[in-house]
Amino acid sequence: MTLRNLRYFVNNSRSGYALREQSMRDNYEFPFTLNLNVGCIFGGCKYCYVREGSRKWGIVWGRDVRVKARISEKLDWELSNKYRDLPQHLKRVQVGNACEVFDPKVLSFTQRELGRDSVRETLEVFESHWNNGNRWMVHVVTKSHYVTRYLDILERMRQMVQIEMTLLCPDEELTRQFELYSSSVEKRLRAIRQLSDAGVFVRIMAMPFMWGRNEARELRRIAFQSGARGFKHKSPLRKFKGKILGKIGIEEVSFHSDHTADASASVLYWLIESEVIALEE
Ligand code: SF4
Repeated sequence: MTLRNLRYFVNNSRSGYALREQSMRDNYEFPFTLNLNVGCIFGGCKYCYVREGSRKWGIVWGRDVRVKARISEKLDWELSNKYRDLPQHLKRVQVGNACEVFDPKVLSFTQRELGRDSVRETLEVFESHWNNGNRWMVHVVTKSHYVTRYLDILERMRQMVQIEMTLLCPDEELTRQFELYSSSVEKRLRAIRQLSDAGVFVRIMAMPFMWGRNEARELRRIAFQSGARGFKHKSPLRKFKGKILGKIGIEEVSFHSDHTADASASVLYWLIESEVIALEE
């Protein structure tokens, strides 16, 4: 495994938005998305569709992350003014659809360089609006067990928050083929247990799901045993399945690999080196 040189930038601009309106606004799509950073250091998911669009952002996917330093202030303004009078059913936001929210390296960087925790600040904005009657449902997508760093506030927000934990299969080795730097399956299942014990609703996102109905049942059983209460799996179109498997270099994958499960697989994550820190005014 080669070391990567990571680069962080800070976007301190007062202009721009926090919530991004989505074109589809029905019962199934999210009316809004929110991303705390541009770019994703987890960057090595073979099925990542965000990577394709990253060129227009002027970053190298998997190497550069632009931290949105003023995201919580912008969010607070938008919830207070721009979107205050929306009908209740449109007050739903998916957080982290285009970056990993709980990336420990980005979290450390923002705390060290900016003295801020944009994840906590953002959650606190939603919490405070909820307590004042402006009620938004917050769906946070993640594949990181570092979500449990925020267990205290997530527990307080359990009426309004849902964690969408990605889990492709129960096999550590196989998961590592699809996702290079995410948390191990074991750590994710442990995080689900902790969240669930705190009363936080966790839904499993098994997407892209490369197997059949029986495997989906097995994964759901394992996830539910760990406390998850929702499960969604979605298979990619045939051509995308072929594309994903092509990136891994195989034609077909079985649900369980022959290798011994490596519970500490996410240790690979720490092989990533961060060398350049750039601050942008
Ligand atoms: S964590 Fe999400 S955004 Fe980041 S590389 Fe993986 S799929 Fe893409």
